[in-house]
Formats: sequence, C-alpha cells, structure tokens
Amino acid sequence: MKKSLALHWKIIIGMVLGIIWALLSAQFGWSKFTLDWIKPFGDIFLNALKLIAIPLVLFSVIGGIIGIGNPEHLGRMGVKTLGLYLISTVFAVSLGLVLVNVIKPGENADLKNRIQYELWADSNEIEVKDGECYSCLEENEGLVNEIKAFMANEQLSEELIKRLETKEKTEAGGPLRALVDIVPSNLFDAFIKNSMLQIIFFAIFFGLASLYIPQKQATIVKDFINAINEVFLKMIDFIMHLAPYFVFALMAGVLTKIAGDDIGAMLGVFEKLLYYFLVVITGLLIMIFIFYPLLLKTFTNDFKYLEFFRNIAPAQTLAFSSSSSAATLPVTMEVVEENLKVNKKVSRFVLPIGATVNMDGTSLYQAVAAIFLAQFHMIDLSLGQQLTIIVTATLASIGSAAVPSAGLVMLMIVLTSVGLNPAWIAIILPVDRLLDMVRTTVNVTGDATIASLIDKSENHDQAGED
Ligand code: ASP
Repeated sequence: MKKSLALHWKIIIGMVLGIIWALLSAQFGWSKFTLDWIKPFGDIFLNALKLIAIPLVLFSVIGGIIGIGNPEHLGRMGVKTLGLYLISTVFAVSLGLVLVNVIKPGENADLKNRIQYELWADSNEIEVKDGECYSCLEENEGLVNEIKAFMANEQLSEELIKRLETKEKTEAGGPLRALVDIVPSNLFDAFIKNSMLQIIFFAIFFGLASLYIPQKQATIVKDFINAINEVFLKMIDFIMHLAPYFVFALMAGVLTKIAGDDIGAMLGVFEKLLYYFLVVITGLLIMIFIFYPLLLKTFTNDFKYLEFFRNIAPAQTLAFSSSSSAATLPVTMEVVEENLKVNKKVSRFVLPIGATVNMDGTSLYQAVAAIFLAQFHMIDLSLGQQLTIIVTATLASIGSAAVPSAGLVMLMIVLTSVGLNPAWIAIILPVDRLLDMVRTTVNVTGDATIASLIDKSENHDQAGED
C-alpha cells in the first residue's frame, strides 16, 4: 500500500529526528525547553489515541462477535485465540529463561554494587554463594517508599503509581479476586478506571446476547455498531496523518526525561546494567525477527518477510515510541485490516483481547529480570522456582495493563512468588523505559501475528465447511 509505505517511512524519520533532538538536548542543556515545549505534543498524541482506544475496544469486540454470528464459530475462535496467545507467551518466557541462565548477566555485575543492595527474607531461606552472608540485613521497608518517591518524582507513569498503591488491596482479596475483578459492577466505572478486561467482558456478554435477539432488532444493533466503528477508524486516520510529527515529540520527550541534561550519568547507569539490558533485548529481537516470522511462514503459505514488516511498521513504530499496546491498538487494527488483509470479524475480536492479555515481550522480560535479580544477589534458584517463574510470568503478563511500565509493577508478583524482594525492581528501573519500548513492540507484533494466523485458519475451516 503506497499510502502506508510513505507513512511508515515518515514515522521512522520522525522517530530518528526525535532521538537526535534528545541527544542534542542533553548535550547542550536544552532539556527544560524540550520538556516544556516539545514533550506536551507527544502527550497530546497519546491522549488522543487512548481516547479512541477504550471505546474502540468496546465497539470492536461487540462488532466482531456480531460479525462472526454463529456462537459455535465464536467458541472455536475464542479457544484458538486464547490457546495461541498462551502458547506464544509460554515460549517467550522459556526463551527468556534459557538466555538468562546461559548468559548469566547478574553474575557480571560488579560485586561492590551488588552488596549495596539488601537481601530480603531470612538468610536460611536464601542460599548465599561463597559462604558469605549479604542477607543478614532486615527487610528494608523504606526502599519501597523510596521507589514510590522515585517514581513520583520521575512521573514515570501515573498508572504505575496507582497500581503500586492498589497492589496490596488486590492481594488481600483471596485467590479468586482476579476473576471477580473481571466482572464490572458498573460499566462507567470500568471506563473511568480504563479497565480493558472489564470492558471486554461486557462487550463479549453484550455481543453474545445480541446473537439471540430477533433478527429485526439484531440488524439495527449490527448497523449501529458498525457505523460507530467506522467513525473511530476515521478518527485514527486523521490522527495518523500527523503521526510523524507527534512521534518526533514523543521520542524527544521520553528520551530527554531519561537522559536529562547529563548524558554521561545516564550512560554510567547503563554500563552497570548493560548485560541485563542486552539479554532482554536479544530475547525480544529473537521474538520479533525470528519467532513470529517462523510461525507465519510455517502456518501460512504466502508469507513474505519484508512485506510483513513493511505492513505492520506503523503499529510497531508507534508501540516503540508510546510504550503502550492500548494506545497503539487503533493503529494495530488499521494495519492488520488494511495491510495484512485480515478479515474484520477476526481482527475486531482477536486484537483488543490480544492488546489486553497477550504480552509476550513483557513475560520474557519478567523472566529475565527475575533471574537477573536473583543472580545479582547471588541466589541460586532451583528448577522448581524457575518453573514457578514460567507460570507467574505468564499470569503476570496477562494481568499487566497495556500502558507504560505496567510490566515492571507486575514483576513484583513474579519476584514475590519465588521469595525474592519485590522492592528490587528499583535496581532495574533506570533502564526500564527503554526496554518497555521494545517489549511493547514485541507485544504488538505478537498480536498482529496471531490475528493473521487465526484469520488463515478460520478461512481454512470455513472453506472446509462450505
Ligand atoms: N508497556 C507494555 C505494553 O503496553 C506493558 C509492559 O509494561 O510491559 O504492552
């Protein structure tokens, strides 16, 4: 498609110029100007995309279900969708575990640095290498507050702080709490809280009920929902024309926030976490450039490597610059429908669910981060604990909101599940935003890949039935 090819190059140019601007800004001390006068345009862009994303999830899932029409087809597609999402996530976690266990980035960290951080839990519970006990310090509650203060200062993400604060409440709710939380008691409250899972639950319920009402009313509902969906897609079209400029502002703003006026300090932090950073990035790049193409090549007959990336580039570049699968969702839907030619019935059902629950990049990162932090503190995790990480990282990625830094907060659950200190997320915080950009790109690529696979298999099944 000529139009999106041009757009995708424009967005990449915007992104590169944003990076160059952030470097100049750090070099010449322009960070205040950048944060005051350039970053706000990036925020406006993100707000506009999020504004569309939430109602789009509601209407597109309802529209998708009504479009599929037959509850039996729907059930089959639902099982396929969730099954594929789960398989790709478990693969991602396992890949992360293999990489981090082979490369051992935590053991390359400088020892003095490691000792600065305190070990949590009783020393008997934690095996300390070399007979030395670094763990005899009490759990440092102050550290958690420090992280909160750090995040509040940095304003990394309001959502992150909110989640940190509500985490205790959620944990207090018992084992079925997560299930109870999926069912909203008030739809407007679900909108206000931006709770995608609750909105999806309502949309599936509403869509299913629409399949059982008389034909005359069903047609009215269908036309109404489809018309609204068209309006939302048009709104995205308008926004996307300006995307290259907005992406410039977004990149310049995000990177200036990380680097400030002192690029040397930022590089210093990076050096300490370099191995960890590289292991996560390697895993994420394998997912994007090897795993997904391999899946598509194996299960579809007309897959072309470069064309695939050209087609989904607008969604990938947006995911990279926004760090939010939810904000990227409108564009993901557009490229999957327009460029990958996935049937709207499929994309409108599969993609909103994917943006909410399918986060391969996040799960891979959580597995690497948990083991890295254990290695960093000289703790050997048993095979059983590593298997626990597969389960908890999979669940934690499903539970992560599709917003910046959500994966970092959910990492606390993974750490807790194997007896590590959740406050250790502070250690990896300095490089987290950059990793977030890449893992969000993986999350979005995974959604687009699975949508294509489901589309192919649905065509195949329907051809078989006809
Ligand atoms: N930012 C990621 C996303 O929106 C979630 C994460 O923090 O890993 O997909």
